[in-house]
Amino acid sequence: MYNKRREKEEYLEKLWEMKELGQAGMHDLRLAMDGNFEGEVIAEMTREGLVEVNGENQIIALTEKGETQARKIIRAHRIGERLLYDVFGGEFEAAACELEHMNSLEIVDSICTLLGHPRQCPHGKPIPAGECCRHSAKTSQNLVVPLRELEIGQSARVAYINCGDDGQMHRLFGLQIRPGIMIKLHQRYPCCVVECEDASIALDDEIASSICVWANTPQYQPEIKTPVKLQGNHGRRWRRYFSFGCKKKQR
Ligand SMILES: [Zn+2]
Ligand SMILES: [Zn+2]
Ligand SMILES: [Zn+2]
Repeated sequence: MYNKRREKEEYLEKLWEMKELGQAGMHDLRLAMDGNFEGEVIAEMTREGLVEVNGENQIIALTEKGETQARKIIRAHRIGERLLYDVFGGEFEAAACELEHMNSLEIVDSICTLLGHPRQCPHGKPIPAGECCRHSAKTSQNLVVPLRELEIGQSARVAYINCGDDGQMHRLFGLQIRPGIMIKLHQRYPCCVVECEDASIALDDEIASSICVWANTPQYQPEIKTPVKLQGNHGRRWRRYFSFGCKKKQR
């Protein structure tokens, strides 16, 4: 039954977290379940071979079967947290707890791939690796990378912007920097300079690192490096120049 399954998943989740903390007491589980503890559920999980109870009901541990199921739940929860935190930049706890009950490994793996196979949740807890992560270790290609990791002169499409500040987000959007737009990295130091929609935009470190791009934008063709004409018209190439929280370089 749906709700029964969900209920058990919450126990499995808590038991996994307890294991991370080195706890195995029934008492710890009771505390972790925060008033939702039912001995009945534990008995059922024991019958199903998900947990093992010892020491006159004082010690509880996941069996191998239970651990396999718990790993899936924890993975979905923490990938969900990363998604909500990185992409939407907001409140993630409650929603991630909904996402963990997703039954589709495929969706979890797709989100994982989209995010570049993150190793930790926003709380710094480890995310159990999935099939996609093992595969990516072989091909070592992450789909989404921070803007700064582009080569100088490389263009890529913006995937998402993880900017906690609404005002800054709007200013970025005002400068046409938003998901889906092509952006080209011109300079990394002393601050990031990008070209976007014919404008040159200087970004401070914090803002630059909040921009993530698709590493292998399909349209991207390695450019043939043409020597920079020093006497050329820099001003004409970029019709507009913006500085975004970045001190102008003294020249
Ligand atoms: Zn949960
Ligand atoms: Zn977390
Ligand atoms: Zn992955």
